[in-house]
Amino acid sequence: MHIPFVDLKSQYLSLKQEFDEAILKIVSETAFIGGKYAKAFEESFAEYLGVKHCVAVANGTDALEIGLEAIGVGEGDEVLVPANTFFATAEAVGNVGAKAVFVDIEPNFYNIDPSKVEEKITPRTKAIIPVHLYGLPAEMDEIMAIANKHSLKVLEDCAQAHGATYKGKTVGTFGDVATFSFYPSKNLGAFGDAGAIVTNNAGTAETARLIANHGQIAKNRHSMIGRNSRLDGIQAAVLSVKLPHLESWLEARRKNAALYNELLSDTGLQLPLAPQHSRHTYHLYVVQIPNRQAVQQKLSDEQIETGLHYPTALPFLEAYADLNYQPSDFPVAHAQMDKILSLPMYAELTEEMIEKVCRSLKNAIVMSAAN
Ligand SMILES: *Cc1c(COP(=O)(O)O)cnc(C)c1O
Repeated sequence: MHIPFVDLKSQYLSLKQEFDEAILKIVSETAFIGGKYAKAFEESFAEYLGVKHCVAVANGTDALEIGLEAIGVGEGDEVLVPANTFFATAEAVGNVGAKAVFVDIEPNFYNIDPSKVEEKITPRTKAIIPVHLYGLPAEMDEIMAIANKHSLKVLEDCAQAHGATYKGKTVGTFGDVATFSFYPSKNLGAFGDAGAIVTNNAGTAETARLIANHGQIAKNRHSMIGRNSRLDGIQAAVLSVKLPHLESWLEARRKNAALYNELLSDTGLQLPLAPQHSRHTYHLYVVQIPNRQAVQQKLSDEQIETGLHYPTALPFLEAYADLNYQPSDFPVAHAQMDKILSLPMYAELTEEMIEKVCRSLKNAIVMSAAN
């Protein structure tokens, strides 16, 4: 049995007729960019999250850049970013002319460690980007308290955490602004690139919308230098078909994670933990394995695909080589790099598939230990 790491086709087939009709409608109406379908999705996504404004853009990386600009981050500013996240989080900071300052992660939850934030704050620090990595909310009470104390802006990177909640509140509603990606394999994914910026602040939303559409306040009136980052009609239509199903897909992910947890409970592996007050939405199901490379190879031999998120923590990437970071600068992020392994995780996984992954994983661990 081949078990892919992600399976976008099953989800497409499960709603095929709806998708096909929605896409054909866009094509026949030539409603290709923005317009009423984008607006309809913005409104329903804002309502789903419980936030006042949603500005749909072309992808999650643009959302980060535009979100940062909209809260006033730019040249000369420093922005605090977790050492373990997808590169785009820090890349966006660089692209608006600011400097990403990395903060180590918590040992148990993979997110930014609030106890290590304050030591990184300087007079230049303008904002902090908590990332709700793998679908688990960052510790927002502590982060908001530090931000308030030091007058920092907060941008939540929710690319992996649509619908995750912290103390009963949806992520994306805590900071000044929040960003989402709808890359096809995300928990809510389009059929191409797509992203969104959400906020409760009308001014921030207005600025973001202006930046994303050439600074155009009215036809042929450009009030500032913006850019082109808009949502396609087809992506909007696909997302609107999917949004009503998101909750059931997230529950399916949680059920799958619970079964993994149960079947792997006797392995001694570090399984993904979640604090009581958080609803983890398992964009990724990440375990830690001492001899990861051998185990991953054995799983691959058995046609079980796995992933690494992320094999190199950000401070140690070539892009930041000139900063010459040492493992001891980010001990937690560095120590887990060679141990983390992401197992297949999606709503459509069957019990049989999860059982097979767990059996093969246990065998692989025993075999690679014997070698
Ligand atoms: C996917 C992702 C992004 C970037 O989103 P794109 O839509 O691919 O540009 C940013 N941050 C995190 C944490 C992500 O996982």
